[in-house]
Amino acid sequence: MERLIIIGSGPAGLTAAVYAARARLAPLVFAGYQYGGQLMFTTEVENYPGFPNGILGPELMESFRTQAERFGAKIENVDVTKVDFSNRPFRVWADDTEYQADSVVVATGASARWLDIPGEAHLRGRGVSTCATCDGAFFKERHIVVVGGGDSAMEEALFLTRFGTKITVIHRRDSLRASKIMADRALAHPKISFIWNTAVVEAKGEYHLQGLVLESLVSGERRDFPADALFIAIGHDPNTAIFAGQLELDRAGYIVSLDGVHTNVPGVFVGGDVYDIRYKQAVTAAGMGCKASLEAEKYLEELDAERAAASMAAASA
Ligand code: NAP
Repeated sequence: MERLIIIGSGPAGLTAAVYAARARLAPLVFAGYQYGGQLMFTTEVENYPGFPNGILGPELMESFRTQAERFGAKIENVDVTKVDFSNRPFRVWADDTEYQADSVVVATGASARWLDIPGEAHLRGRGVSTCATCDGAFFKERHIVVVGGGDSAMEEALFLTRFGTKITVIHRRDSLRASKIMADRALAHPKISFIWNTAVVEAKGEYHLQGLVLESLVSGERRDFPADALFIAIGHDPNTAIFAGQLELDRAGYIVSLDGVHTNVPGVFVGGDVYDIRYKQAVTAAGMGCKASLEAEKYLEELDAERAAASMAAASA
């Protein structure tokens, strides 16, 4: 029986773990087989305060983890497969084992979105990827396509200039959603060119990606386009499948919370990208993880007081 289970190990989950561990709650963190969250797939993080020269995403997450463990957080690299929040204690299944807890922080983050076009699933890991950090080095001296118009797409494109001879960003509109600094860097880079108002509608190739089919969203015209690699950077979906029917979710699958900390189940708290559709930054996720942990601590104090009062009442009855 745990006092607090934290599900997720990105900036939100591990910040919750640091705070809860320092509050002597010895939280049990289910970090997932792919622990560390999205920053594990990132290179240089330049906007996390405290690192004026930037820090590599995986290095930052290792530091979060070491800090949480230093104060007594128990971190297991396994996935949670099922939860039952309908009764107390809450029940959580990981690696076929059932765990019980008085409180839970949900910080399962979000996962990269795919285009859902013909050829994409078949060619995943064979020229089609959502992670430039993981797969970029396979495409030295090649022509690489990046899809998307947000910060992720600009970051991927800029990173891929280290490898590719030419990077083409294909975006469905005629203007970028990315922050000005990232957009300006990508637009000014001599290796990066842009194709606007265009969708990638097919990935072609038998054993590895050999080309794409593009569709103009203005004229509807389709054409073949040569490419050795396709990196998809079109946003993320929240990792909430296991919470369906247990927590209130919105239409896009994000956890609903009126204040960004409490869920509709008292004792279950939320933090990070699994709730945050708007900011999605490592630093905002860390802040939310801190708040979730402080609220869990307060909830547990109240629970202890209720239990003490109930046992006193039972003893005097
Ligand atoms: P995003 O801001 O939601 O951008 C997604 C992009 O993909 C948009 O340009 C969108 O087009 C396009 N898109 C979405 N679905 C598509 C589809 N089915 N087909 C083609 N294009 C599609 O997502 P993100 O770039 O992953 O960024 C998420 C958050 O993380 C943002 O808040 C961002 O600032 C932050 N972030 C920051 C950094 C950094 O500061 N270094 C790096 C990465 C991410 P439309 O523009 O037409 O909607």
